[in-house]
Amino acid sequence: MSIDLTRVRTIDVHCHPFLPNERPYSEIEFLEELSLSVRPGMFDQKIKSKTGMMYSGLNMYMQITIQRLAKYFSCEPTIEAVVRKRNEYAGDFSSYTKELFNNVKLEGLLVDFGYPTPAISNKVFEEITGFPSWEVYRIEPVMDHLRDECNRFTEFVEAYRNDLRTALEKKGVLGLKSIIAYRSGLEIGPMNEKEASIQYESFRENKRATVKTLRDYCLHIAMEECTRADKAMHIHTGVGDGEVLLHKASPSLLVNMLREDKYMNTKVHLVHGGYPWMEEAAFICSVLPNVYMDISLQNPFAGHGVKRIISQVFEFAPFNKVMYGSDAFTIPETNWLGVKLFKECFTEVLQSWVEKDYMSEEKAQTIGELVLFRNFEEVYKKDIEHI
Ligand SMILES: [Zn+2]
Repeated sequence: MSIDLTRVRTIDVHCHPFLPNERPYSEIEFLEELSLSVRPGMFDQKIKSKTGMMYSGLNMYMQITIQRLAKYFSCEPTIEAVVRKRNEYAGDFSSYTKELFNNVKLEGLLVDFGYPTPAISNKVFEEITGFPSWEVYRIEPVMDHLRDECNRFTEFVEAYRNDLRTALEKKGVLGLKSIIAYRSGLEIGPMNEKEASIQYESFRENKRATVKTLRDYCLHIAMEECTRADKAMHIHTGVGDGEVLLHKASPSLLVNMLREDKYMNTKVHLVHGGYPWMEEAAFICSVLPNVYMDISLQNPFAGHGVKRIISQVFEFAPFNKVMYGSDAFTIPETNWLGVKLFKECFTEVLQSWVEKDYMSEEKAQTIGELVLFRNFEEVYKKDIEHI
């Protein structure tokens, strides 16, 4: 026996919905869909090579996607051939998506409907994928919306807390999500009601104002409501799109808040595992019993780096604390490649642990299953139907 993850079912614990994109793509449009870049012009130039042309802006993750899709489509491993095949198959978009998901045994998604905007409904997305998706509920759009309605801070706080509480009561909502790393950063101070109420005026004038004390205060309320509902608080950590406050996105900044006694039993899910500071996230998961991390975004966007990342994460992270994720957000090929690449890399890492006599093959295979679906089922078991 050797490690085999290909037939292990998989739950993606962090991704975003997409609409049917069955219209034919040009090669550049397809690369733009794969890219984290939100600005046009990344792929406008071509670089001459001996055998043909290569698009500027192409990186390893995209190169691997083209190479693996070519195998899946049984076509030449070129962007031209892959996009041609994609356009052909995606005409029946829902079947195309379902076949991609089946191919890698992707059987469940925990979705952040906060991106893209305007929001895609869960029902529309479920029709495309063919199975129900669970949801995390973003707090920042609630704050933005209530700021228009509430003249007074006390009124805002009450409406905000009620909104979160109602959302957490819904079936299928597994927790709240915050992108405070894009607004004022992860160094969360104590609750300061007086200062937060003073900052409320600036927030009413500008929804993108830093208003750090107010945002910290709102995150504490979200933590309290998750504690009350026994659901998970998802917090964006590490890199993201171009707007993230990179110097304030390291998971270590969260430690003071996470250590507060009142959050001793609060489940916290560090989204993206803090990449490129995944060792910090892994350490935090190793010392705080209710903190978990996922491996989304770094997988698959770090390309060949996924193998190194998995190895580094498990320098500290306990085996029951890490969950598979992709952060796929535009086209189903990213969800597919996420699983494909992750299983390839993880198999190599697990195999090397067996070869070094750190563990038996059975144990390595079990760890593979923990990360791909079992940890998710354990952490969220109270709120998920039997799959
Ligand atoms: Zn995301």
